Amino acid sequence: MTHEITLIPGDGIGPEVTEAVVRVLHVAGVRIDWDTQHAGVTSLERSGESLPRELLDSIARTHLALKGPVTTPIGQGFTSVNVGLRKALTLFANLRPVRSLPGVVTPFPGTDLLIVRENTEDLYAGLEHVVVPGVVESLKIITKEASTRIAHFAFDYAVRHRRARVTAIHKANIMKLGDGLFLDSVRSVARAHPAIVYDERIVDAVCMQLVMNPGRFDVLLLPNLYGDIVSDLCAGLVGGLGVVPGANLGEHTAVFEAVHGSAPDIAGQGVANPTALLMSALMMLDHLEESAAAATIRDALERVLSRGTDRTPDLGGTATTSDFTDAICREVEAAPAA
Ligand code: ATP
Repeated sequence: MTHEITLIPGDGIGPEVTEAVVRVLHVAGVRIDWDTQHAGVTSLERSGESLPRELLDSIARTHLALKGPVTTPIGQGFTSVNVGLRKALTLFANLRPVRSLPGVVTPFPGTDLLIVRENTEDLYAGLEHVVVPGVVESLKIITKEASTRIAHFAFDYAVRHRRARVTAIHKANIMKLGDGLFLDSVRSVARAHPAIVYDERIVDAVCMQLVMNPGRFDVLLLPNLYGDIVSDLCAGLVGGLGVVPGANLGEHTAVFEAVHGSAPDIAGQGVANPTALLMSALMMLDHLEESAAAATIRDALERVLSRGTDRTPDLGGTATTSDFTDAICREVEAAPAA
């Protein structure tokens, strides 16, 4: 079967890592009809829009996208394409598995966390205004509806994937109403899942506990902003942003993308690590029930990482993006047919 999938190369290191991933999927024999769409600065130059209608129409048709990072310039005049896309498609759940990989040496081998981040509200509602010159108000929106929806997602996922514990992360000691509503909503869902251990941690304390002993955690459930920050912290536990995948999920639509951004500091140098986007693509293959191809690619990736000779600089090696991709493709080609 041929899958029709929207491909958003993005900018910065986006085109380099998406090209690598498309190549690996092709070598693995997954039949995909890619509909390439542009977003952010690349599409602003072409069409004057950062989130063009054609892109949204394409995803409305395919229900599925693989997305490279899209830069959000800091400051005024440009709303985040990433946030805009999540809102436009109601991709309410952001799922980020954080696992140690073979051959990637870190102080925490055996780390296996799952981050579930609420994706539609909180300070990302984008509601800011100048109250008087010199005073800005940024509104943090928390609703019972979105908090309950993400809690259901986290607990249902935990049950389906045999996870033992869900930890809700908050700052309700300070934001008693907003984070308090988030916690109340999660607690009511937790009560309906007595087989899953449920606990709560304050966000600052959990940051310390994660860097000292991540093994004590399992599924982490967070509102949007804490989810963003704690995701990068957790990426650091397993080798950095180059190796952590992600999925943005809605009722009928899924957009798979790495946790990392466009990494302008290394863009165009051919040294970006495509592992995070490749692992996001493996989540996509699982979603498409292409499990055999996903397993072949996962094995190939793990063999290349374990061998250590073709690692990119972020993992301490000297390989280029294309050396690393070539090595994975060779392993995929050498794998016995499924
Ligand atoms: P954003 O705010 O857009 O989410 P970020 O804060 O997550 O972005 P990145 O652009 O992801 O920041 O980059 C942070 C650091 O991680 C940079 O030094 C970058 O070079 C490194 N990095 C990110 N992704 C990769 C990758 N795929 N391969 C190698 N290094 C990476």
